[in-house]
Amino acid sequence: MRTMLNQRDAGGPRWVMTLAALAAIAGGIQPAGQVTRAATPVPKTMRLYVFDCGLLNVTAEGVERYHVTPAEVGETRMSVPCFLVAHPRGTLLWDLGVIPDSAVEAQTQGARANVNPTVAAVVTRTLKGQLAQIGYTPADIRYYAISHAHIDHSANLNQFAASTWLTRPAEREFMWTENNPRVNPSFFTLLKDSPVVLIDKDEYDVFGDGQVVIKGAPGHTPAHQVLILRLSSTGRVMLSGDLYHYPAERSLHRAPPDNEFNVQASAASRAAIEEYLQKTKTELWIEHDFLANARLKKSPAYYE
Ligand SMILES: [Zn+2]
Repeated sequence: MRTMLNQRDAGGPRWVMTLAALAAIAGGIQPAGQVTRAATPVPKTMRLYVFDCGLLNVTAEGVERYHVTPAEVGETRMSVPCFLVAHPRGTLLWDLGVIPDSAVEAQTQGARANVNPTVAAVVTRTLKGQLAQIGYTPADIRYYAISHAHIDHSANLNQFAASTWLTRPAEREFMWTENNPRVNPSFFTLLKDSPVVLIDKDEYDVFGDGQVVIKGAPGHTPAHQVLILRLSSTGRVMLSGDLYHYPAERSLHRAPPDNEFNVQASAASRAAIEEYLQKTKTELWIEHDFLANARLKKSPAYYE
């Protein structure tokens, strides 16, 4: 009983479910999909976990779409990270992978999928499995957000349909635009009527204390956005979404790709974000930067 009380102390509403499950077990009935489990972990200070949600193999032609050459970028592969922000007031998942967990589970040697004719994804680990490793289930996720709705950032949206989605009206509209080749509607069939916060300003403070801010950076898609974190030891970090793909695009000051939703808006967002980074002394983490990603601590280790 003491254990159960501790669970209530840490997990709040989970107590109700745990009691129900316990009563069912005591009565010899195991309700479908309901098991006793530990309460949601609640850290004292904010943590950032980096998950491995796969990689992208990109052809030379694919690299050149970003106005850089394979020689200029060196490493042509792209990382596909997912992130969990564990804040004392709740959790936020940021970017949700390129191949749904269900497809990854069905393969023993890793799942493969072509994102487009120049980009092929390989995923060996599920997001769900990496969450479980640190004590979280999808039910523990309070908020989720994607930098944008392209295929390589949105594969596991359906899994979090019971949580609250933080998005912008223009991105939502883009997702349900008919025959949109840049999204995969099967990834978000459950989101049409799920809980949502529609962000209508440039900066949205997720937990109300300035530590986690979603900021608009439109152009790559109609309402592409970036995530800014104020971590107590690591400092200020911005997760880039696809503001850039390769670090060489940034250092060589190349123009945004021609196939952006709005090239001019992308260029303006890059300029505004660079100014913001400098002014606020924030470090930019380019999510698809394979070499930088390889150097990051991965979950179960974390940044704080
Ligand atoms: Zn991407």
